[in-house]
Amino acid sequence: MRKVALVTGGSRGIGKAIVLELAKNEYDIVFNYSGNETKALETAKEVEAIGVNCDTFKCDVRDFELVSQMVDSIIKKYGRIDLLVNNSGITKDNLMLRMSKNDFTDVIDVNLVGTFNLIKAVTKPMFKQKAGNIINISSVIGEIGNVGQANYSASKAGVIGLTKSIAKEYGTRNIRVNCICPGFIQTDMTDKLSDEMKEAILKQIVLKQLGKPEDVANLVCFLASDKASYITGQVINVCGGMVI
Ligand code: NAP
Repeated sequence: MRKVALVTGGSRGIGKAIVLELAKNEYDIVFNYSGNETKALETAKEVEAIGVNCDTFKCDVRDFELVSQMVDSIIKKYGRIDLLVNNSGITKDNLMLRMSKNDFTDVIDVNLVGTFNLIKAVTKPMFKQKAGNIINISSVIGEIGNVGQANYSASKAGVIGLTKSIAKEYGTRNIRVNCICPGFIQTDMTDKLSDEMKEAILKQIVLKQLGKPEDVANLVCFLASDKASYITGQVINVCGGMVI
């Protein structure tokens, strides 16, 4: 029987690379997205072409009820969720002086409260199956902060704290919880930055190149595997040495 992975924001960017890599590792895939249905269906086709099942849900991670319904329907169909990857995320950058309260809370709600909602929803099924694996996608910005990203940095620092606390709570239940902090990865999220900003970031990267979504997906697959069975509560950077 194949394992079942639920990946939030699996339609594009890093999430898409994660679902494709997990599919190659013989997971049945379920992913959600917030609005871009065309991209989601394209990705689902690519996943199915690998030879595993793929279900998609239009489900905003901020909506606790909708998240619970999604988890319930996965349990109804597959009977279990082996792996949760909390990947959905947004940015709304601005200097603190100009950042509105809504821009602050929107980013916290998607990146941090959304992660809480998913963990909360999979808790009972994972406890019942006496096994599970949770991987949260944070960011190096949650570790080091960044000008113009107070909301994003706070949300991602929160994800790190959440990871460590839940790892301590769920260890005895045979559930591992880890956190990946990508550096600068080429996706729609970073494409919107100006060339000057990209140049400035590149200067801070020891390996002098931007990361690929697959660089993050490879670590997800390792942490999800039995090769990582003694790793929990850890925060691992995938950043080309941007943060050392
Ligand atoms: P992306 O290309 O912008 O993709 C974001 C994904 O999240 C999409 O699938 C999107 O769905 C989904 N999403 C957004 N808001 C959502 C919501 N409210 N509910 C459910 N799904 C939602 O982003 P990315 O660059 O791949 O980033 C993925 C994760 O890695 C994020 O958590 C991000 O913070 C983190 N990260 C990225 C970088 C980087 O350099 N790219 C660096 C560090 C950390 P739709 O397609 O429907 O909009």
